[in-house]
Amino acid sequence: MTDTRPLVDQFQRRITYLRLSVTDRCDLRCAYCMPERMTFLPRAEVLTLEELHRLALGFVDRGITKLRLTGGEPLVRRDMIELVRALGRKLGDGLDELTMTTNGTRLAEFAGELAAAGVRRINVSLDTLDRARFARLARRDSLPQVLEGIAAASAAGLKVKLNTVALKGLNEDELPELIAWAHGQGHELTLIEVMPLGEVEEDRFDHYLPLSQVQARLEQIWTLNPSSHRSGGPARYFDIAETGGRLGLITPLTNNFCEGCNRIRVTATGQLFPCLGGGERVDLRAALRSAEPDVALSAALDEAMRIKPARHHFAIDRPGGAPALARHMSMTGG
Ligand code: SAM
Ligand code: SF4
Repeated sequence: MTDTRPLVDQFQRRITYLRLSVTDRCDLRCAYCMPERMTFLPRAEVLTLEELHRLALGFVDRGITKLRLTGGEPLVRRDMIELVRALGRKLGDGLDELTMTTNGTRLAEFAGELAAAGVRRINVSLDTLDRARFARLARRDSLPQVLEGIAAASAAGLKVKLNTVALKGLNEDELPELIAWAHGQGHELTLIEVMPLGEVEEDRFDHYLPLSQVQARLEQIWTLNPSSHRSGGPARYFDIAETGGRLGLITPLTNNFCEGCNRIRVTATGQLFPCLGGGERVDLRAALRSAEPDVALSAALDEAMRIKPARHHFAIDRPGGAPALARHMSMTGG
């Protein structure tokens, strides 16, 4: 029998938003996200298309109304678009929104198909508009493809939101220009603080830039009016009078946004992390590959609700730059 009980954790938070990672692989190597010689998972460990589909439908049955596909880079997975099409059929039938977070390198190829499948909005990560700087930050010279991808997405009717990680000494001087460009193109932009996830070569603390500082600097050039807009995520929003656009700020390290948390994450291997900033996890792949997948999945989701922590445990100021959590963002998705 289908389990349709809503997902409610022990702090009475109703979980309606799932971020599902479909691959840990990526065609870029953003320095804050993964090392150049990243070890990717053996394919057998990654959920098959059928498993991802079954899992996503199980979540929709239990009240997930917003589903974001992420990675790694979701668009490098070959059968990805089939999954999008299959999930698109649930829109209006339990699912309210199907979205994706992408680095944009393959968006020019897929934007039309995403739109045709019912995707209306996507997030594209963009940390700089300078080609040489992009090549340094992402360790790949792919800015032209990304810009082409963003343009293709807009042309296909997708609403594009840009995500920018604010990095001290790397792109902080460019943030106003990036925001002005985004708003000029009709895109919302959200700034993110760098989070201590997984080992990378550089000490991330060197590049940690508190958004309170960025906000203070932006307020010297523009008028930032606090907005009542909410996206169902942890961002706070401002309308910038001069650019006419919206700016989001996500400050996981300087702010506590856990109280209203409505989300969970599942990795490409089916590990459910009830909190991005915690070590708690439940193995959904084992449930899916068990003799009675439906029963095992129900029980695993109940367990996830039982262990979802009240708040995250991030701290970036660890001496020696040891990550607060050993897994990379490319595992749990952004
Ligand atoms: N590859 C896709 C992309 O880049 O949009 C999706 C996955 S990526 C892990 C999702 C988001 O996480 C990106 O916006 C990226 O900039 C951000 N990210 C990765 N590592 C991060 C870190 N250590 N701290 C903060 N944001 C991070
Ligand atoms: Fe790839 Fe996204 Fe990580 Fe960059 S942030 S390396 S694009 S997964």
